[in-house]
Amino acid sequence: MLVLMNVNATDEQTQAVCKRVEELGYRPHPLPGATRCAIGITGNKGAVEADMLSELPGVAEVIAVTKPYKLVSRDMKSEDTVVRFEGSAATVGGPELAMMAGPCSVESHDQLFRAAEAAARGGARFLRGGAFKPRTSPYAFQGMGEPGLEIMAAAREAFGLLVVTEAIDHESLALVDQYADMIQIGARNMQNFALLKLAGRSKKPVLLKRGMAATLDELLMAAEYVMSEGNYNVVLCERGIRTFTDHTRNTLDVSIVPAVKRLTHLPIIVDPSHAAGKRDKVIPLARAGVAVGADGLIVEIHHDPDHALSDGAQSLYPDQYAAMVRDLRKIAEIVGRTIAEPQLKSDPATSVVSK
Ligand code: PEP
Ligand code: MN
Repeated sequence: MLVLMNVNATDEQTQAVCKRVEELGYRPHPLPGATRCAIGITGNKGAVEADMLSELPGVAEVIAVTKPYKLVSRDMKSEDTVVRFEGSAATVGGPELAMMAGPCSVESHDQLFRAAEAAARGGARFLRGGAFKPRTSPYAFQGMGEPGLEIMAAAREAFGLLVVTEAIDHESLALVDQYADMIQIGARNMQNFALLKLAGRSKKPVLLKRGMAATLDELLMAAEYVMSEGNYNVVLCERGIRTFTDHTRNTLDVSIVPAVKRLTHLPIIVDPSHAAGKRDKVIPLARAGVAVGADGLIVEIHHDPDHALSDGAQSLYPDQYAAMVRDLRKIAEIVGRTIAEPQLKSDPATSVVSK
C-alpha cells in the first residue's frame, strides 16, 4: 500500500499519516519526491484498509502496490534515487557516473595506496577493496580483516576517496559500518536475508551485487529487504551471471540495466571485472556498461596483478584504468553522463606512495 500526499501537503500532515500507519500496526516509509511525498506501508499481512488513511488531511490518494517489491518500485517513487555521501561531491544515480576502482583484496598498505593513487588519478571518487573475502576455497586468502579496513580508512584520508568494502557476516558488517562509506553485499550473500536486514539498519549506503543465479525479481526483493529496514540508499550492481559460456568467468547481463531502470528508482552500476574474469575483456565490457545506461562502474585494479592475492587475472594495470576512463568519457557524453575530472593529476613527482 502506498499513500500519495498532495503536492502542497505540510510536513505535519505527512507525519500525522505516518503516525496513523504506526497506530494501525504497520511501518511507514516516507520517501520525499521532487514534487510530493509518498509514504510506503510495510508490515501488513493482508490489504490495508484504504479508508483509514484516505480521509486524513493532505492525502491525495491511497494506492495498492501489486508488485511483490514495494519500496523499490517506481510506483512508490517515480524519480531516480540519487545516493549522496556527506562531505563529498560524489553521487550514485545522478548525471555523473559513479566510478569505483581498487584491488579485489586489501593486501598491504603499499599495495592499497598504489591502487588508491591510480584510482584517484583515473578520476574515480570511490576506492574499492575487500578486507573480508568470500572465497570459493577455505584455503585461499580470506582478507586482512580489520587491519585491512584501517588501511582503507587511511587511503580515504590521503586521497579524498570514498571507501566501499564488503561485509560477509554480522561481525564484519559491524566493522565495515564503522570504517566504510558504503557497505558492499557480495553476490554470494545477495539472499543472506539476515545480513540484508542488518545492512538495512545501517545509515551507510549499500552496494548490493546481483547473485550469480539471481533473477531480476530476486535482486529487487533483496533490495526490498534492505529498504524495508529503513535504509533507502541502495545501489544495485550487475556483475555477471552463470551461463553455459566458458569464454568468460560470468556473462555480463547488460540487458538487466534497462530492465532495472524501468521497474525501480534505485541506481545500478556494472562490474565488468567479475563478469570478464580476464583483463583483456574488462575494458570492452566497461564500455558496454556505460553505453547501456549504468550509473557507474566498479573495476578491479592492481599495480602487480601477477602477484595479487585474489582476482589478479581480471585486474587492470593502473595505466590501463586511466586510459579506459579517458575513452569512457566519450561514451558517457553520448549517453548524457559525465565522469569527474581526476582529483589527482598524473604527476609522479607528487606521488604519495612509498617506493
Ligand atoms: C568482489 O567484489 O571482489 C567480489 C567478491 O564480488 P562478487 O560478490 O560480485 O563476486
Ligand atoms: Mn574480486
